Amino acid sequence: MDATRAELEQRYDELRAQKLSLDLTRGKPSPEQLDLSNALLELPGVGDYRDASGTDLRNYGGPDGLPELRAIFGELLEIPTAQLLALGNASLSTMHDVVVHALLHGVPGGSGPWRDVENLAVLCPVPGYDRHFAICEAFGIRMIPVPFVDGRLDLETIRRLVAEDSGIRGMWCVPMYSNPTGIVYTVEETEALVGMEAAAVDFRLFWDNAYAVHHLTDDEPPVIDVLSAAARAGHPDRPLVFASTSKITYPGSGVAFFGASPNNVAWFRQRSSVQTIGPDKLNQLRHLRLLRSTDGVRRHMSAHRAIIEPRFAAVLEILERRLSGVATWSRPTGGYFVSLDVPKGTASRAIALAGEIGVAVTPAGSTYPYRDDPDDANIRIAPTFPSQTELEAAIDALCTCVLLAAAA
Ligand code: PMP
Repeated sequence: MDATRAELEQRYDELRAQKLSLDLTRGKPSPEQLDLSNALLELPGVGDYRDASGTDLRNYGGPDGLPELRAIFGELLEIPTAQLLALGNASLSTMHDVVVHALLHGVPGGSGPWRDVENLAVLCPVPGYDRHFAICEAFGIRMIPVPFVDGRLDLETIRRLVAEDSGIRGMWCVPMYSNPTGIVYTVEETEALVGMEAAAVDFRLFWDNAYAVHHLTDDEPPVIDVLSAAARAGHPDRPLVFASTSKITYPGSGVAFFGASPNNVAWFRQRSSVQTIGPDKLNQLRHLRLLRSTDGVRRHMSAHRAIIEPRFAAVLEILERRLSGVATWSRPTGGYFVSLDVPKGTASRAIALAGEIGVAVTPAGSTYPYRDDPDDANIRIAPTFPSQTELEAAIDALCTCVLLAAAA
């Protein structure tokens, strides 16, 4: 039987008395997951500083990154090694820099710097990743939210907007296990995106494949070769692919990758040469020694899955038990998040109630441009970081808050 409001309030008071300190906010690996990569703390080891061709990696040079590591990730990401650069410690800074380069200098095939474009805009499928939106907001780039419809991209709207508005120069895409919905783009959707007519010749897809190998089930969708699809469609320069090892090894101390058409890679290489003489190749060597091969990466990801699969299962079980009929949520088969939709107009209240009893949840609206969720309904849950016991307590407490907010 459903809990009455009085029962919920009593439960909430009991939770308050427990003086909880639980955190569901950011998608961070748990300490056990970080332990999987602890060999990095000792690698590459004394005397190991050359790549396969004998280059001394302790010195300047090699702006494209370590060829052997690029080959491994090229295979995983379906990008030819020559078109994939291994860069710094995080892909977000590469995305940031690409946007800045486009604003200041324009992109290949374009008509000039994007800062001169009237009504410059970027499409943002929502709910989406807050840090993508933060980049646009920081530079005053207009963001146009395009809500997913029944868990799919709204291709009709996207096609129409891109065809009629020449101010639209980009679109954020997380093609595999989208943050936060877990949505995986299909081949047909990808072909539509790379093939559609665009009013701007230099329209770009910011193809953030952050979760390309982050599976939670045996149903592992293959990575779509977006660069070949775009070339076949006559728009080889449209996709700009980003990825990193942040959620494979250590976030913040990983390796970022940038992949694109030869034109775009040459453009990025030239712009970056002003910024840096080259990336941290010893960190890349450490990663090569730890991961070794594509199979090595896959084995590593299976070990991650073994740790986090039970956490996702626990979240889904608790949501099912407590919020059936009240809220809806994603059932991701990979990635890092569960996306919870509570009754319209109640997400902020539920999150505030949770905050008051020591359960930190990502602020309401975070998954929308300008933090504006018009329905005030979406809550992003990040299950990986807390221990299983803490996670279960936090989700159960959040459910009480959702029910209380909905009952108000
Ligand atoms: N893209 C997406 C979709 C993410 O969810 C994250 C991490 N939360 C990142 C990029 C950040 O990656 P990095 O650490 O390489 O900057």
